[in-house]
Amino acid sequence: MREKAAVEVAGLVKRYGRTVAVDGLDLTVGYGTVTAVLGPNGAGKTTTVETCEGYRRPDAGTVRVLGLDPVADAARLRPRLGVMLQSGGVYPGVRAGEMLRHVARLHAHPLDVGALAERLGLGSCGRTPYRRLSGGQQQRLALALAVVGRPELVFLDEPTAGLDPQARRATWELVRELRADGVTCVLTTHHMDEAEELADAVAIVDAGRVIAHGSPDELCRGGAENTLRFTGRPGLDLGSLLTALPPDTAAAEAAPGVYRLRGTVDPQLIATVTSWCAQMGVLPDGIAVERHTLEDVFLELTGKELRG
Ligand code: ATP
Repeated sequence: MREKAAVEVAGLVKRYGRTVAVDGLDLTVGYGTVTAVLGPNGAGKTTTVETCEGYRRPDAGTVRVLGLDPVADAARLRPRLGVMLQSGGVYPGVRAGEMLRHVARLHAHPLDVGALAERLGLGSCGRTPYRRLSGGQQQRLALALAVVGRPELVFLDEPTAGLDPQARRATWELVRELRADGVTCVLTTHHMDEAEELADAVAIVDAGRVIAHGSPDELCRGGAENTLRFTGRPGLDLGSLLTALPPDTAAAEAAPGVYRLRGTVDPQLIATVTSWCAQMGVLPDGIAVERHTLEDVFLELTGKELRG
C-alpha cells in the first residue's frame, strides 16, 4: 500500500555546531501537490530540503520521502527524485547540452532533451561550458537537470531566484505542467507571489520550525482580519469613525485621501463606514475589501518581512 504522504518530516532537528538550523520541524507533503516552503534567510528551508534529499543526516526526528529513508534508502530513492540545488553541483567545464543529455541517459524514460532546453531558453547555449553560462542560465540548467528524468518528486530550492520575468514565467509553467502530470513538487521561495501562484500548500518556516501550514487561501483567511480601503477628501477625522467601530479596528490615512481600516471587515463595518461618510458629506470612492496576502500573514506571524 502506498504511504499517505510523499514527504513526512516529524520533529526534525539539525544543528551546525552551536547553530540550530532546524528546530523540531514538522512537514507533510501530499502526493501530486505543490508545496511552497516560505521563510526568511536562515530560517532552515535549505537544510530541511537537503535532509529530505538525503544530503544531510537529521540530528533528531524522522524523515520519510516516498515512504523511504533518504539516507539509508538513498540508492532506491535517488532515481525517483529530481533535485535542484541552490548552487550548481555541476562540473564547471562541462557543456550545458552534454550535461543534460548525460543526466537524461541515466533515466529510463527521460523527457525530450531538445524540447526541454528550448522551452527553458537554453536552446542556444548547448555548447557553452557551465562556467560561462550566465547566473540565470545556470539556474535554468539546474531546473532542467532536476526534471529531465521524469521524477515522481522534485525539490526545487529557490527555482526563480535571480531570473528575469520571462524565465520566471517559463519556470512557473513547467511547475504547473509537472503538477498536471502528477509530480509532487516541493519548492523553497522568498517570493509570496510565487507561492500564491503555484502552491496547493504553503509551509511558513521561521527559526527552524513550521509556524503555519495550509493552502494560500486558508492562510490568508486564517486571520479574521481584512482591510477596507477607500478614498475621499484628505484629512478626514478618523477618530470620530473609530468611536463607532469595534475596538479592535485600526484606521489610518495611508496617503493623502487614501484610508485603510484593519479589523474584522463585515457588512456591519462597511455600513458604519458608509454612513459615517454620509455624515461627513464625503462620497467614498473605490471602496474595496482587500484580502490578506501571504506577505501580511507572514509579517503578522513573524514580525519580519521576507526578502526577495
Ligand atoms: P536562505 O533563504 O538564506 O537560503 P534557509 O532558510 O534556506 O536560508 P538554511 O540555509 O537552512 O536557511 O540555514 C539555516 C541556518 O543554518 C542559518 O543560520 C545558516 O547560517 C546555518 N547553516 C546552514 N548551512 C550551514 C553549514 N553548512 N554550516 C554551518 N551553518 C550552516
